[in-house]
Amino acid sequence: MAALGVPQNTIAILQKYQFRFQKRFGQNFLIDTHVLNKIMEAAGITKEDFVLEIGPGIGTLTQYLCENAREVAAVEIDSGLIPILNETLKDYENITLLNQDILKVDIGKIAAEKNGGRPIKVVANLPYYITTPIIMGLFESHVPLDSITVMVQKEVAERMQASPGTKDYGALSLAVQYYAKPQIVANVPPNCFMPRPKVGSTVIRLTGHKKPPVAAVDEKLLFQVIRASFRQRRKTLSNGLSNASEIMLSRDEIAGCVEKMGLSATVRGETLTLSQFAELSNLIQGKIKSK
Ligand code: SAM
Repeated sequence: MAALGVPQNTIAILQKYQFRFQKRFGQNFLIDTHVLNKIMEAAGITKEDFVLEIGPGIGTLTQYLCENAREVAAVEIDSGLIPILNETLKDYENITLLNQDILKVDIGKIAAEKNGGRPIKVVANLPYYITTPIIMGLFESHVPLDSITVMVQKEVAERMQASPGTKDYGALSLAVQYYAKPQIVANVPPNCFMPRPKVGSTVIRLTGHKKPPVAAVDEKLLFQVIRASFRQRRKTLSNGLSNASEIMLSRDEIAGCVEKMGLSATVRGETLTLSQFAELSNLIQGKIKSK
């Protein structure tokens, strides 16, 4: 089968099947072999690995994955792509194609069946409209994850990697950094895709932590505190958190926790590190418990 990373081969297969791009599915297919090689290099796939691919499209990246991995499962929502994938991947025996919505798939079950519960690698050129739900869904499902190497919108990659006090820092940065170590691999211009997206793209690798870098007594509360702190970015931390109905403490009680940490009463959430958020959520948890 001809390599699809070459634009002429992609055009030929699309024409053969009279494929019509579905904008609502975020379909921007890769047509650049350098970028495909970069993704593969960053993902570090070996013949030992089971890989989950999200949104194989016409199978461009999937061909590379099948060549290099032990086994691949690819989840594609668009049934119009399945006959194409059956042709472009016909030379491979190590692929399982699932015509499903990744947000509804039981990834834990796939990981258990295909990889005996050992950490899996996820590789994808993601549909940008659901980047955050996909990434958070993977982390929150607690599927054992070795790494996630994905193409995302450039701004989203910058938010994932952002440090405290910067404009990009927010709930996504903290959530990603709680579960993984983000590492930007390469920026990718629109002309590497067909059709060209309106935004810049970035390949990012998220290497899963063996255990979280901070100890939060109540993980759910930690994320409630983080989300509430960034919901009203311009408010002080104490005001922001006391306005959040899910955190059942008064403004004074929250201010007491902030003071106990040695922070100024006017501190804003956007300057706190992940470990400070963990400390704060533990203090809040203690206070709620003692009520
Ligand atoms: N991997 C291909 C490539 O690099 O050329 C295609 C990438 S394209 C950016 C995103 C793919 O995700 C499309 O094939 C699209 O149909 C698929 N997709 C969109 N939403 C999805 C969902 N909820 N579940 C599974 N696949 C989805």
